[in-house]
Amino acid sequence: METIFSKIIKGEIPSSKVYEDEDFIAILDIMPTNLGHVLLIPKEYFENIFDAPESVGSKVYPLLSKLAKAMKEALNCDGINIVQNNGKAAGQEVFHAHIHLIPRYENDGIRFTPQHKEYDSTEHMQQTAEKIKSSI
Ligand code: AMP
Repeated sequence: METIFSKIIKGEIPSSKVYEDEDFIAILDIMPTNLGHVLLIPKEYFENIFDAPESVGSKVYPLLSKLAKAMKEALNCDGINIVQNNGKAAGQEVFHAHIHLIPRYENDGIRFTPQHKEYDSTEHMQQTAEKIKSSI
């Protein structure tokens, strides 16, 4: 599957690379939510979390931790949001799996539109938990 990220991985499109190993690259997002916004991209193609190979998962968290610590030191940020959009309904635009690391600063004014829905009742909440639980 050819995507903008597979072209970046192959070096056909330029990028501002911050990290590369056998399995991943990390680049600066071209339209950053905050300066220093990084995208961690697996080289192996899969669309998103729904078809992620299990082997990728075990490598991702240590790498996110390494990148987050490096960004904190390099950018002197106060925090980092780690976000993955999975599916069009969740805002995914590039259908090659990737994870956003967004540096945050106290009072930087960025908002991830906080919204809260309400369960009809405690029972409804419990039923929802049971539904998910039975699918695991
Ligand atoms: P998502 O909505 O999670 O699919 O995010 C896709 C991200 O890829 C967006 O934040 C874009 O700004 C970013 N993006 C798209 N094209 C490029 C590119 N050529 N280089 C770096 N980032 C890109």
